[in-house]
Amino acid sequence: MNAPLPASLLKQHLIDPEICIRCNTCEETCPIDAITHDGNNYVVNPDVCNGCMACVPPCPTGSIDNWRVIPRARAYGVDDQFGWDALPPQEPVESLLAEAQAVAQAVAGQGGASASADAAPAFATPESASAALASAALAGAPDDALIEEGVAAAAVVVNRGATVPPWSAAHPYVNLYTHKEPVVATVVGNYRVTDDAADSDVRHIVLDFGEASFPVLEGQSIGILPPGVDARGRPHHARQYSVASPRDGERPGYNNLSLTVKRVAAGRDGNTHDGLCSNYLCDLAKHDTVRVIGPFGNTFLMPGRSGANLLMICTGTGSAPMRAMTERCRRRMDGKENGKLMLFFGARTRRELPYFGPLMKLPADFIDINLALSREPGQPKRYVQDLIVERAADVLALLNDDKTCVYVCGLKGMETGVLDALEHAAVQAGQDWSILHQALCRQGRLHFETY
Ligand code: NAP
Repeated sequence: MNAPLPASLLKQHLIDPEICIRCNTCEETCPIDAITHDGNNYVVNPDVCNGCMACVPPCPTGSIDNWRVIPRARAYGVDDQFGWDALPPQEPVESLLAEAQAVAQAVAGQGGASASADAAPAFATPESASAALASAALAGAPDDALIEEGVAAAAVVVNRGATVPPWSAAHPYVNLYTHKEPVVATVVGNYRVTDDAADSDVRHIVLDFGEASFPVLEGQSIGILPPGVDARGRPHHARQYSVASPRDGERPGYNNLSLTVKRVAAGRDGNTHDGLCSNYLCDLAKHDTVRVIGPFGNTFLMPGRSGANLLMICTGTGSAPMRAMTERCRRRMDGKENGKLMLFFGARTRRELPYFGPLMKLPADFIDINLALSREPGQPKRYVQDLIVERAADVLALLNDDKTCVYVCGLKGMETGVLDALEHAAVQAGQDWSILHQALCRQGRLHFETY
């Protein structure tokens, strides 16, 4: 545990605007609503944050894990943080020390010895004070007990998935390239993967990294920096896309990866700005270059253990990580490493389902495919959760096997429906869902990536 700070100092929790990809995960995770955002930044309200760390493990970039020691009276307010392009530097320990001692003396003058002791618990000697401040400024967490409390709070409040990877997942690399130092990739392919007659234009985009090292695992994502500036003249923020290819590349032996990107005709709120980066990507031609940051993500990862089962549930372009994992398994189909693969995939129609053709060519004894079509003419509207309910017994058998990991990716709205369907599968068999759900979360076996 870190040495305690004087009461007049605060170890303030901050989000690095240069690394943050504005994915909203932290705001969703915070159990006490201390995180908020405007059109520019995600920020932490110092009046609300208790440093519980609940938001830290789920953050895909690590931008959330930033701390500055500062006098409480000068804590960075929400409005200050909204205006930042970069984090302020940590103020020198010596000046903080002097300021805190001045506060302690003022308090002692006003309120007596007990106030003085309370104000400066770590100041037995100047050396110990400096050491305490330096370690507080440098260390990530404010307090070990709070971390445990916070992670537990996140599990309870968010109540959906794991904040740890499967124990057998390979080690992921994250943040190798940042806003300040992106890597430039070259487009080597851009193909439509929805039917030509479908309304949705979903593209399979292949990026080559040339000589640059860009290691990714299935389930990780990358950030794309669209060119140009926003209305305030600032460079656009990065947008996050899941990698759709396995770790050895879209083409094995090549230093490349693929993305699944849908052209946006108008944002869900009618705001065309939503599609800024997706449309930029969809319009890229072979040999164009694109600035990339990342990789991101250290929990939504596939198990490495032999015989692991994958239960994959996705909608639309949320199929990207499922394609990556399925392709990883397909490439090693001859071996005995694969367990069972079960896929629930939702799209409006067959024609709008990305990768429909290649998917349907996969052998039934390799992957159990369940398509939920919501607007197929002449058919009842089906969502993935409806099919999970229909296949409840098979789904439950997988959930009860500790070699199974579950992945949910796609529309935010599907989360509740999918969780309800998984609960239904357990309950109809007389099983306690809360126990099973907690085990899935604790063991890093249930993962969500929804927007
Ligand atoms: P979409 O075409 O809008 O929807 C796919 C299917 O999901 C449709 O059949 C839709 O039905 C259905 N659906 C709608 N609400 C649902 C709900 N509450 N529960 C279950 N199914 C529901 O999908 P999309 O435009 O491709 O969007 C995919 C999402 O994945 C986006 O939010 C995207 O940000 C996210 N995502 C993308 C990536 C990536 O790398 N590109 C990665 C991760 C996540 P109806 O429309 O008929 O109601």
